[in-house]
Amino acid sequence: MTRNQTLADRARQVMPGGVSHELRYRAPHPIYIDHALGAEKWDVEGKRYIDFKLGAASQILGNSCPEVMQAVAEQLTKTPYTGDCHALEIEWAEWIARLYPSADLVRFTGSGTESTMLALRLGRAWSGKDKVLRIDGHFHGWHDMLIKGAKPGTNTAPSLGVPTAITDLTVVAPPSVDAIAALLDQDDDIGTIFVEASGANYGSVPLPDGFLSGIRDLATTRGKVLIFDEVITGFRWAPGGRQARDGVTPDITTLAKVVTGGLPGGAICGRRDIMELLDPGKPRDGLAPPVSHKGTFNAAPMVAAGAIAAMKLLSTGDVQKQADAMAARLRDGINACFTNRGMAAVAYGDSSTCHLYFGGSSIDGLTAAQIRTVPPALVNGLRNGLLERGVDFMSFTSCVTSSAHTPELVDEAIEIFDETLGELTE
Ligand code: PLP
Repeated sequence: MTRNQTLADRARQVMPGGVSHELRYRAPHPIYIDHALGAEKWDVEGKRYIDFKLGAASQILGNSCPEVMQAVAEQLTKTPYTGDCHALEIEWAEWIARLYPSADLVRFTGSGTESTMLALRLGRAWSGKDKVLRIDGHFHGWHDMLIKGAKPGTNTAPSLGVPTAITDLTVVAPPSVDAIAALLDQDDDIGTIFVEASGANYGSVPLPDGFLSGIRDLATTRGKVLIFDEVITGFRWAPGGRQARDGVTPDITTLAKVVTGGLPGGAICGRRDIMELLDPGKPRDGLAPPVSHKGTFNAAPMVAAGAIAAMKLLSTGDVQKQADAMAARLRDGINACFTNRGMAAVAYGDSSTCHLYFGGSSIDGLTAAQIRTVPPALVNGLRNGLLERGVDFMSFTSCVTSSAHTPELVDEAIEIFDETLGELTE
């Protein structure tokens, strides 16, 4: 039995399915990673992988970024965490306030899921309305309040244990400003609008042109709180996220993954008057703070130290340019493989992402449900074949790049992709 198999057997004895995150599940067994550096990682058997998963898109600086590691190591000699205020969280918040157009004020959280929970609580508190409108197929973490509609085309919660009393408060809309305007006309209880700033699944279903500015105008004229989920796009699409790149400012922004330098945690930032609802020094309605938010590990000093080191690297835009160029190279190379093999399939994506669609040579005019319908045998074969040959694509049809990817590594991955595809289709 191999070391990966042995670990999988042990894991299944003590963890449901042997995993800590459902997307890490893999039959017959996952790979167990021992260490990672730059755009590569190595499993417990010493096998090397070119990495396009990159900590679920959190490691845009590449794995084990030396500057981040050094800053964390130095902080660990003082304290990882005491639960007190500290100077590093202020410096970290100042970076975010400088880079994000929507960031008058910042509050740190424990994860992206916690960021979207808090942002929604603020949206409800500010608007005084319980219902939230979210877009079909967009992902905002695993909590009850935004899980309905996460699976495109379903309009239900893809999980047991989510009360109907909660999902009744979530309205799922297509990515169309006109359709959303009509839903707002019909239902005056909607006070908050949530959008994944890339479009669903970090842009596998891109937003129509003009959607973000259209929804901004709609939210402003109707007095709704507009929230951009920039957990993926933040610091990746540009140092100031999609909002800075496209010049559309939400009322609140949710951040995680890259904002922490790829360490555990998250943040929200937003308009002063809304964010001040979190201020314990400004009681309202007999409540101090008016909107309650806690979290033992929010802005832990060891995370803040790493995040500040990351901010310094991320703020110039060079990291994003390199990651974008490597993703463009990957997409072009994969498209050349499809063309050479006469396959009606396409690699596409914004910024440093690469998505695959196997139902034709373009995704124009398709719905989220159509784009996300995959040929199971082909995508399973591809994912497993790539892993066996030493390439980790993040999911069956999507991946990201980092500034640590080089043209040589990307070209090596394209060659492996072509070989794997050949084996599956010839
Ligand atoms: N929002 C988006 C757009 C995400 O992609 C994710 C995670 O992938 C989340 C929220 C949830 O973040 P976390 O996994 O840190 O809870």
